[in-house]
Amino acid sequence: MNAKTTTDSDGIACRFYSLGTMNSIRLYGCSERELLEDTVKRISEINDRMSAYQPESDISQINFHAGWKPAAISKETLRLLKTAKNFSAFTAGAFDITIRPLVTLWGINQKPQFIPEQQEISSALSLVNSDDLQLDEANGTAYLKKAGQAVDLGGIAKGYAADEAKRLLEESGVKSALINLGGNILTIGSRPDGTPWKIGVQNPAALRGEFLGMLSVQGQTVVTSGSNERFFVKDGVRYHHILDPHTGMPARSGLLSVTVVGADSMTADALSTAAFVLGMEKGIRLLKQMKAEAVFAAEDGRVYLTEGLIGQFEGSHLGHALNAGGLLK
Ligand code: AMP
Ligand code: MG
Repeated sequence: MNAKTTTDSDGIACRFYSLGTMNSIRLYGCSERELLEDTVKRISEINDRMSAYQPESDISQINFHAGWKPAAISKETLRLLKTAKNFSAFTAGAFDITIRPLVTLWGINQKPQFIPEQQEISSALSLVNSDDLQLDEANGTAYLKKAGQAVDLGGIAKGYAADEAKRLLEESGVKSALINLGGNILTIGSRPDGTPWKIGVQNPAALRGEFLGMLSVQGQTVVTSGSNERFFVKDGVRYHHILDPHTGMPARSGLLSVTVVGADSMTADALSTAAFVLGMEKGIRLLKQMKAEAVFAAEDGRVYLTEGLIGQFEGSHLGHALNAGGLLK
């Protein structure tokens, strides 16, 4: 395990790279190194199955065999694909894991400031359709109907992995912990002194580490999708990594970020991506259906909360203008 572990009087913590990002897990009132290592291993296993960047992963196998033949994959990946596919239907296509041809075309953070031609966007867009992902549970296979189609679990896998980590830790009796998978936060219980965790909500218009405010949570998850995560600015326009499956462009819904607060991290992960694409009004409707709450940082410079978060969010930016460099136009 390539994790860096530290033990102190509060408990044990580690930092490790997986799922394409830096992660950390901190256990309080428990210093079982082996438990922490097993948890990291479990996350690595999920990464090895679900990464679109590892040639042997289930996802790469599906993508490689697209338009050709079904790929045999693990039960676990099949289950997550089924859930992700249902999310597409549920969000009227705002969340769509067959987005990968567009993700590859734009290459945000991979290609230097590249804006594709409309015709390239249209042809990648014609491949995006979750209905073309056929899942066969009896045979343990998944199949994409058209050559060139590809799936990408980047919008949901971190949440799923966080839920798995929490499950393992709770099964071993952990009562207080903080799981942070690349900014996707999942808490167990409360802080060791019994007070709620304070989770900072990044200001999407400012540098990393500057917060819009703090959320108080106990046992909940806090997941953000933002136009400030992977992006570049060209001619005053922010081109970022959350793509609208209906236009093929970085989503422009009047938002800079959405931070979802909920019970499970997988749902919150999918919801934050979907709500970002849908915009505030439709996003709020979706969140209500899923019993989740959110903090919206809007392009108009204001911070909006869903009702359930009133009293749970302390922020100095409420109603204040964000200095949004590189607004979406
Ligand atoms: P997140 O940060 O959870 O909102 O996920 C963003 C990542 O999910 C991107 O980097 C892509 O890999 C993928 N993605 C982008 N747009 C979408 C979308 N509309 N639906 C599902 N996944 C997406
Ligand atoms: Mg997400």
